[in-house]
Amino acid sequence: MNLERRHHLIACAKAAKGFMPDDEGLALCDIAREVGSQFPHATMLEIGSWCGKSAVYLAIGAEETGAVVFSVDHHHGSEENQQGWEHFDQDLVDPADGRLNTLPHFQRTIATAQLEGTVVGIVGDSLTVARHWSTPLHLLFIDGGHGEVVAHADYDAWSSKVAIHGILAIHDVFEDPADGGRPPFEIYQRALASGAFALVDRCGSLALLRRIR
Ligand code: SAH
Ligand code: MG
Repeated sequence: MNLERRHHLIACAKAAKGFMPDDEGLALCDIAREVGSQFPHATMLEIGSWCGKSAVYLAIGAEETGAVVFSVDHHHGSEENQQGWEHFDQDLVDPADGRLNTLPHFQRTIATAQLEGTVVGIVGDSLTVARHWSTPLHLLFIDGGHGEVVAHADYDAWSSKVAIHGILAIHDVFEDPADGGRPPFEIYQRALASGAFALVDRCGSLALLRRIR
């Protein structure tokens, strides 16, 4: 990828609304490039598109290796994104029905980044998609609902779909409860305790694990 394109994509990622600090986003980009180089035409999937910020970071690494990033979201936000909660954004409310709708924002981010050939949005509930998904994943990024039930359900539904030697990335992993909610940290602990995943790297609240068996 030439430098101009890379700069354009990083600018698009930074400009998108979302919850991915730049250093963690670049770590996602690096691991996507590594996975893409290791597995030709790699299949990558993220749970939790929001407005496309992390999808762009993943795609910077994916594009140059011919990988595809599937990005799953029902686009109505998690509990903590709803009105009255910490991460509510009035601009994302659809006046037609008063519900959050991040899909147009996601589409605009991906279109502006000219990534429509690399990032494929899947609009729907993560568990419904998981029930019908059988393609092994060379990279799985879990960043969907962070509530107790939903985070564990995503881990249960998706983690076994990671290919051997593939990567499981989990966002918002906080050792210290003062820094954030527990469920992403709990599923990270479960992944390590299962013996199927080994820690590769950490960057901020991003944990990268490799499937070893
Ligand atoms: N990765 C994004 C942030 C994701 S926020 C970024 O980089 O900015 C979490 C997202 O998970 C929200 O968009 C929410 O709609 C989605 N989500 C929560 N529960 C879900 C579920 N059960 N199925 C699909 N998407 C879900
Ligand atoms: Mg997150």
